[in-house]
This record gives sequence, structure tokens and C-alpha cells, in this order.
Amino acid sequence: MFKRYLLLGAFFLPFVSHAQEIVNRDPEIERYVKAISADSMKASVEKLVSFGSRHTMSSVTDATKGIGAARRWTLSKFQSYAKNSGGRLTAELQSWTLKPDGRRIDKEHEIANVVATLKGTDPADDRVFVISAHIDSRAFDIMNRDIDSPGANDDASGVATALELARVMAQAKFPATLVFLIVSGEEQGLYGADYYAQQAVDKKWNLEAILNNDTMGSSAGSETSVIDNTRLRVFSEGLPAYQTAEQAATIRSIGAENDGKTRQLARYMKEVGERYVENLEVVLIYRNDRFQRGGDHTPFVNRGFAAVRITEMNENFDHQHQDIHTEKGKEYGDLIKFMDFEYLRKNAGVNLATLANLAKAPQMPQEVKIEVKGSANYAKLNWKAPKSGKVKGYYVLMRETYQPFWQKKFFVTDTSVTLPYSRDSYFFAVQSITEGGNESLPVIPLPTGR
Ligand SMILES: [Zn+2]
Repeated sequence: MFKRYLLLGAFFLPFVSHAQEIVNRDPEIERYVKAISADSMKASVEKLVSFGSRHTMSSVTDATKGIGAARRWTLSKFQSYAKNSGGRLTAELQSWTLKPDGRRIDKEHEIANVVATLKGTDPADDRVFVISAHIDSRAFDIMNRDIDSPGANDDASGVATALELARVMAQAKFPATLVFLIVSGEEQGLYGADYYAQQAVDKKWNLEAILNNDTMGSSAGSETSVIDNTRLRVFSEGLPAYQTAEQAATIRSIGAENDGKTRQLARYMKEVGERYVENLEVVLIYRNDRFQRGGDHTPFVNRGFAAVRITEMNENFDHQHQDIHTEKGKEYGDLIKFMDFEYLRKNAGVNLATLANLAKAPQMPQEVKIEVKGSANYAKLNWKAPKSGKVKGYYVLMRETYQPFWQKKFFVTDTSVTLPYSRDSYFFAVQSITEGGNESLPVIPLPTGR
């Protein structure tokens, strides 16, 4: 009665003892990850710091100083990479006017996002995967637009990462579209991300994942002398912030409070990132963000998109949101010399591997269901093929309900499977995969047959 299946991947369940881990890399993605250059990212951070202040309210017209000059330089870098892309990479400035908000915007001011798009090759595939970072910087006084605020780590590290990924992947031909999104106004109230996320809703863009990189290039935290360049944090919300009463009831009834789509994206990032980047652990933080702090993923999360925040393991608060000065022999300020570009290179690799694997994968399987009628000590799942993408088969993922990560993978070529594990005692999800092994995001099954 059971459909044929194969076991793959890493096994931690006690009843499987003879398995070994298989690292299956896509040679194209591996080549891109290896092409990421720490020196190239350092040069980008140096250039961004040279604009003095990148405060959102700083000059937008000065040729060499202020956020306007920084945005134009970033645009020109994307455009230089676009020359190698056969016309598929394009970049533009999207500008609008910020009105005074009684908080951190004290007068009308021009704001702009830099948006670079690597168009997908499959016209039937409408998926968009986004890497974002913020170009604006700040000093101690959030309103001070004149003082130098180098923002080397917060967040030139993220901007340099997005630029480097565009450089390396400009010639790639993925079925889905990638967007390299450089926003402004993060420190003043997430204005740039909010603007882009609202456009995505209004224009019905199919944004499947947003990787928000903010403050991810320093390996030395404050309050400790420990250098940790082997761990990277990925923050993800649990319960979706944006849900209807009906969705909330479903989550409650099937116990899916740890299986929202942002959480699935975070798990995916851990598995794929660690597959391609050596000596780096992706640490999942089951929380939307740090206490009392915000980030550009949140405007997306609040609109129902899957969006994570990527941040270094230990932040250094002496080198964040500080004026450059020395006090009692201690140096303050967000300067390049406090960064670790080898760590940044690895963190960029996690982003690249995740985005490339997503963009090469087929779309997610559709209408994933788990049969719940009657009583049974097995699990019967069925689904439909994805809307686009060539599928070799599917992974059915399984874990015990108290476990944070997927524990087993079953490979199936059909669109249904019966597994000898109780539907009541495990969680399941299904991914579509290509011939080369690129997996879509997993979809958790909804009950059917009630
Ligand atoms: Zn930041």
C-alpha cells in the first residue's frame, strides 16, 4: 500500500542509525559562491563611507557628499554589472517625496530606493526573490544629518553584499527574477522598505522571499572579547503578523504556529546556506527582530510576505549609531576598521546560495493536502504540480512536532505518497525539486477529507 520512496539527507531520528550526510551542491551555485570577493566588498564599503553622511535627510544634490551621491554611485555600480547581463539586469532610482511626520522627518525631502532587477528567463514564472539592505546611516543624534556617519557595518555591509551578488550573478540565467533592493529611510522609520512593500501589494508582485541584510559584517561583539566569525543570525517571525481570523483558526487547529512561511524561509536558508558555505553556522532566531529594534523586513512581514532579517551573531554597540570619538581610551563609531570582511564574504555566500537555489527551483507544489478522514497511523499526502518549472520530483519533509528543524526527507516522483508515520505525531511539508536538486520553499499540507 505504500508508495515507493527513498530516504535522503541528514537523519537524526533514533530509528535510523546507518545513514550518512550527503552534501549535494549545484556546481553553478558553488561557482558563484566561490566568486564572492571580500576585497570587492571592502572596496564598496570604503566608497560608501567616503560620502561622509548618508543620513536620509542629508544632501541629495551634492556631487561627492551625502545620500544622493551615495545612491547615484550605487546605481552606477549596478549599471556597470548590467553590461555583462545580456540586457537582463537593469537598475533604476525610484524616488518620491517624504513629508514631515512629526518624528524623524522634520521637513519635506526627496527620498529614493536603488532597485536592480535580474529578470527571470521563464515568462511563465512570476516569482521574485529579493535581497535588501539600507543605504542610509546615522550618528548618535538621529536628526543630525551634517556630522559624519560612516555606517560601515550598519548598513554598508548589506549594500556591499547586494552589490557583490549582482556582480557575481549578472550573467546567470535563472527562471525566476531576483531583485537587489537598496532602500533609504530605514533609520527614520523604514520608509524605503515600506514604499517598496506597498508597491508589491498594489502591483500584485509575487514576492516569495525577502532577505533583509542589516549589520552583518563585524565579528567582534561588545561586552565580550570573543570573536565569532562562524555564526550568523537569521531572525524570523513565528505567527504571521498578517492573518485573517480564519487563517489563525487553521494555525491553531493544525499546530502550525512554528511553520509560518517566514519560518520556512529561515529553515531553508539554514539548510542551503550551510550546504555551500564552509565553517559557518546559520543560527535561527525564532523571533521577528531584536528587542526594541526594527528592520526593513518588517514592512514586508506586516503585509504577509516571507521576510527574514540577517544580522551578525554579536552586535557591537560601540560601533553602531555612535559619533566618531574616543572616550576613556575607547573608540566609538561605525568604522571600516572594526569590520571583518572574511566574515562578510561568508555571510554574502549564505545569501547568494539561498537566492540562487530559490531562483533555479521550480515553483512550490500547489494544493498540498494531508488526508485526515477516519483514523489511521500513517500519513497520506497529495499535491499538484507547480505552476511553472521542470520537476524531477518532490521532497516530503518530516519532523517530530517538538523539533525545530526538518529531520527526514523522502524523495517521490509522484504527486502523492503514503508514509508509515502517524499523521498525528509528525509535521510534514512538500518541496518541488529540479533535476539538479534545487528545492522550492516547502509547503505545509492542509487537512482534507474532514
Ligand atoms: Zn541598520
